[in-house]
Amino acid sequence: MKFNPELDNITIYEAGKPIELVVRQFGIEPKDIVKLASNENPNGCSPKVKAAVAQIIDKMPLYPDDSMYKLKEGLAKRYGVASSQVVIGAGSDQVIEFAVHAKATRGTKVLMNSVTFAMYEIYSRHVGAEIIRTASQEHDLDEFYALYKEHKPEIIFLCTPNNPTGDAIDAAKLFDFLEKIDDETLVIVDGAYMEYAKAKDASKAVEPADLVARFANVLYLGTFSKAYGLGGMRTGYGIARKPIIQALYKLRPPFNITTLSLEAASVALEDEGFVEMSVTENFSEMQRYEAFAKEVGIGYIESFTNFVTLCLNEGQNSTLLADALLKKGMIVRNLSGYGLNAIRVTVGTPSENDRFFALASELL
Ligand SMILES: *Cc1c(COP(=O)(O)O)cnc(C)c1O
Repeated sequence: MKFNPELDNITIYEAGKPIELVVRQFGIEPKDIVKLASNENPNGCSPKVKAAVAQIIDKMPLYPDDSMYKLKEGLAKRYGVASSQVVIGAGSDQVIEFAVHAKATRGTKVLMNSVTFAMYEIYSRHVGAEIIRTASQEHDLDEFYALYKEHKPEIIFLCTPNNPTGDAIDAAKLFDFLEKIDDETLVIVDGAYMEYAKAKDASKAVEPADLVARFANVLYLGTFSKAYGLGGMRTGYGIARKPIIQALYKLRPPFNITTLSLEAASVALEDEGFVEMSVTENFSEMQRYEAFAKEVGIGYIESFTNFVTLCLNEGQNSTLLADALLKKGMIVRNLSGYGLNAIRVTVGTPSENDRFFALASELL
């Protein structure tokens, strides 16, 4: 059967391997498997969320509140924007899909960093857009600007902090860059890990309200999958001025967020203490990863997120290392597909991290 020819240019996205797959493939007991591959919160989510979801479990037979009133109000209040400036997606992934489909068509250009979140390219390929990437590994906004001048892209993706490298753009530099971009170019600022960056270094903090106040062409993305510990609930959001939000709404399927997810996210948003605790613990464990890297003589990229990219030396091979770890029940992300001889490891609980250090130092 022939399919949409644009699909020929897409390779199927390989998400972090689920624990169930490792159980089946290697016959390892679930209790002996540690997953440090998808940047989930090792502390799970706020206990208040579990209680709230249990309370509304009887609502499952009914369609959700499609106006998403409670969550949109919660986000609007948290970020100091209007609820008409918020769109909710089944993960911020879905908001990326809406945005690309709303703006790009065949042959239009989409500019992104050399190494960045894989879904930007995949959604762009859906519509046959042309991908333009920088050469430098870290977001170099001078290079972005030069490529913008040369190619006049319809969309620019900026991921800060960046996945899978963990580095973050300086907020003041980001605003200077945005000043120079014309209003016809949609700039998507993906802040999936902003809760972490903000806590570690205030100079990296990007406030969606500032973006919306100053720029008509910027869409900010956030998610409940990382710091809030709700990856399984598939809830993310976009914040922008109303014309952008309305364009995205035209592509939104009805009832795209479940009743349980809407409630979980609304309650999670109120428990700031849980996020603060998670972020603090994350960076204290992160120091152990840095110490580990120094101890075994490998490199790492300073991270503003809940994961760390460990860069191997010549003669070491990230694919072999990731496979060997997997056979021992330790799931990490191999970055060879991004052209890096590196692995990305999500910072886990202290005991999960101990296990990683023990296995990785043995294998290295
Ligand atoms: C995890 C992640 C997302 C989206 O996650 P969802 O679970 O779809 O909300 C978006 N961008 C980046 C950079 C991510 O790492």
